[in-house]
Amino acid sequence: MALRSVESIPMDFALSHEHELVREMAYKFAQQQIVPDIAERDREHRSDRSMLDKMAEAGILGVSLPAKYCGSDTDYISLGIVCEEMERGDTSARVVMSVHSGLHCMTVLQWGSAEQKQRWLPDLAKGNKVGAFGLTEPNAGSDAINLKTRAVKDGDSYILNGEKTWISLADYADQFLVIAITNPEAKAKAQTMSAFIVDRKTPGFSSRPLKGKLGVRAGNTGQIFFEDMRIPAENRLGEEGDGFKIAMSALDHGRYTVASGAVGIIEACLDACKPYSTSRSVGGEEIGKKQLVQQMIANMVQGREIGRLLYYKVGWMKNMGQRHTKEVSLAKWTNCNNAFTAANDAIEIHGAYGYCDEFPVERYFRNSRGAVIYEGTREIHTLVQAEYELGYRVDKPLSRTLPTWPFGEDV
Ligand SMILES: Cc1cc2nc3c(=O)[nH]c(=O)nc-3n(C[C@H](O)[C@H](O)[C@H](O)COP(=O)(O)OP(=O)(O)OC[C@H]3O[C@@H](n4cnc5c(N)ncnc54)[C@H](O)[C@@H]3O)c2cc1C
Repeated sequence: MALRSVESIPMDFALSHEHELVREMAYKFAQQQIVPDIAERDREHRSDRSMLDKMAEAGILGVSLPAKYCGSDTDYISLGIVCEEMERGDTSARVVMSVHSGLHCMTVLQWGSAEQKQRWLPDLAKGNKVGAFGLTEPNAGSDAINLKTRAVKDGDSYILNGEKTWISLADYADQFLVIAITNPEAKAKAQTMSAFIVDRKTPGFSSRPLKGKLGVRAGNTGQIFFEDMRIPAENRLGEEGDGFKIAMSALDHGRYTVASGAVGIIEACLDACKPYSTSRSVGGEEIGKKQLVQQMIANMVQGREIGRLLYYKVGWMKNMGQRHTKEVSLAKWTNCNNAFTAANDAIEIHGAYGYCDEFPVERYFRNSRGAVIYEGTREIHTLVQAEYELGYRVDKPLSRTLPTWPFGEDV
């Protein structure tokens, strides 16, 4: 076989003009609508619906959903770019993207029937409704396979009982993608679960905020409780027993948003450290001229560039309809570690001033810590990567895949 052929398609690393427009729109939104009062909101632990409303108004909540469902019709790389710019503003805005767009909307787009997509996606894309994700329970985090929330079939509905904890937007989301046990007797644990879209207005639902968080203080995190909630069977995503697979698909999408968002934290660290390094002098010399400070700046640049390559590749794989569980785990793991290191170094560069909230870097440090834990801790991603490499983990084809981009008529 010839090494080169006229039919071969060159690898293309260029972002399109449309991607650049998406970045410009998202950057302006974050800098104008989020950054001005974020220090105050973070200090006061103030989360409310106002950020969601602003994001909805700007069309951000419909990014990368098909025009058929009132979305922006942009590709999946655009979703990553928006997450990067949102997190450059504040992690709380990117968390909205993660739970609404990544974990909720993309999963409905992948697993929903034609009727379900038509029923839910237009309101979600327009931001009339906000979606969230309920997997974690008080005794099931990394080992999500051991969850206890139970949905028992009763005629043409299910009766849902249980609780979920550490749920982002618990107090504001209109609907939740909830994973619950439906078939406890199934042979494989992964087949005991099903996935449901749960409307918070259903009788038996309640939520409670979690207080005292280290980071993401301008964002809402809480517990949600289900008490004898009657969920129509038509709200079940996929088949009975598909719940674990659906949760893992949701995490493929959520991890993509976290990985791309982490690059935004690194960029924000550079935004803060560059002017500080060239304006602060020690011993009569700008600290930016000191090699050990330059080392930290260079590491941030390295993290940003590697991070973009990793998430652009995952976005491209989504566009092509390729399974990317391995690649998105690597991107999430690498980028979140690099973002945390960048934020830690950003404090170092600011010296004592980095240790107070006069500068934003202490917020980046606190915010970046959470992402090393959620959507798979760094230990879990370490194991996942080793297992793929050693052949202990192999992905089987899924019965439903995310639509390729450009979206077709039948999306
Ligand atoms: C800010 C925030 C927002 C969140 N939002 C959501 C949300 O919207 N929806 C949702 O469902 N969940 C959410 N979570 C929950 C999050 O996904 C879990 O915290 C995460 O999966 C880890 O579970 P855990 O906290 O129970 O830790 P555990 O699973 O109890 O882990 C504790 C420690 O043990 C280690 N460990 C566990 N298993 C292994 C192993 N096999 N080998 C080696 N080490 C191991 C872990 O790495 C960790 O260091 C959120 C969490 C945070 C902090």
